[in-house]
Amino acid sequence: MPGGTIGIIGGGQLGRMMCLAAKAMGYRVAVLDPTPGCPCGQVADIEIAAGYGDMGAVERLADASDVITYEFENVDAGALAYLEGRGLLPQGSGALRAAQHRGREKAAIRAMGMPVADFAAIDGAASLEKNAFYPSVLKTAEGGYDGKGQVVMGSEADLPRAMELAARSPCVLEKWVPFDMEISAIVARSASGEAAAFPIAENIHVNNILHISVAPARIPAGVAERAAGIALRIAEGLGGVGALAVEMFVVGDEICVNEIAPRPHNSGHYTIDACAASQFEQHVRAVCGLPLGDPRLLSPAVMVNILGEHLDAGNPRNLAPYLPLLAKGKLHLYGKAEARPGRKMGHVTMLGDIGESLRAIGAAGIWG
Ligand code: AMP
Repeated sequence: MPGGTIGIIGGGQLGRMMCLAAKAMGYRVAVLDPTPGCPCGQVADIEIAAGYGDMGAVERLADASDVITYEFENVDAGALAYLEGRGLLPQGSGALRAAQHRGREKAAIRAMGMPVADFAAIDGAASLEKNAFYPSVLKTAEGGYDGKGQVVMGSEADLPRAMELAARSPCVLEKWVPFDMEISAIVARSASGEAAAFPIAENIHVNNILHISVAPARIPAGVAERAAGIALRIAEGLGGVGALAVEMFVVGDEICVNEIAPRPHNSGHYTIDACAASQFEQHVRAVCGLPLGDPRLLSPAVMVNILGEHLDAGNPRNLAPYLPLLAKGKLHLYGKAEARPGRKMGHVTMLGDIGESLRAIGAAGIWG
């Protein structure tokens, strides 16, 4: 479908960067998002400002598009069934359905023989009281992100707070993993089964939000190879097409899968400036049936998110703390009008020596 139209469900920064990659390859883009002037809507050809469950709007998106993809996991179930029925979803729905529910996700990964932390499905407060173990973390099965909907249970003293969460929604109780490092592997898979892995990223979270990604991760080559292998096998096992991110914990030489996202991922933003083909380009190629590109790393890279709290509250374009990073850094802003604490407003990718880049971030006072 050279020159065809790609429909994107969700118009945040991931949709925007997908759109920019698609436009560079000559595609047209239509986006569905409830917010007029959303980050993707600003650069797309067609903007449909409506709710994700608005079936009339979903139909309009389908009519305008040759293929449809999404930028997040929580795609409306009715919309998903409708779009699959019209043959517009090259990614299929298997990987998405697994990623929508932590219990299903972990069971599917474990069934493939891949390592996950011990876990138990929790259905209500009584179920938690009966199955509690420590140390652990209770997570809502659906809808949680960036550490929201989670209670860490270090000891029985944390049980009452966790029971409140368990009473509100189905959950998964997971063994606490004393990890040395968090990493992610992003892979892309095409409909023909061709697959390619990006270099492993090392991820540093602050307040449960990804803050910094370092590529390549500072881990032994053998561990990195195994991590890429795990992500490729999960992508194959789920049968998905497009980009897939697999977040993992490294404990000594061991790897444990935390969660997956069947889409491009914040920890892969470094690929835009540091790899021959970016995660967004790979994703677009995969959903459009093109051969995959070259995921090779051309330079070590450090990506730091630009968060709302680091910008002047009244002026989201005041980038003062980030200016010292721009000598070696590439600036990406997402076009969000309002800066709120924790809100991802953009990112900077610094190329070259990793230690130097990390020291520059520390000196700029934006580490956390
Ligand atoms: P998640 O929403 O599952 O990505 O969790 C958010 C963050 O909480 C992760 O990036 C980890 O830093 C931490 N975390 C989640 N699950 C565990 C676990 N089982 N053991 C230790 N830390 C965890």
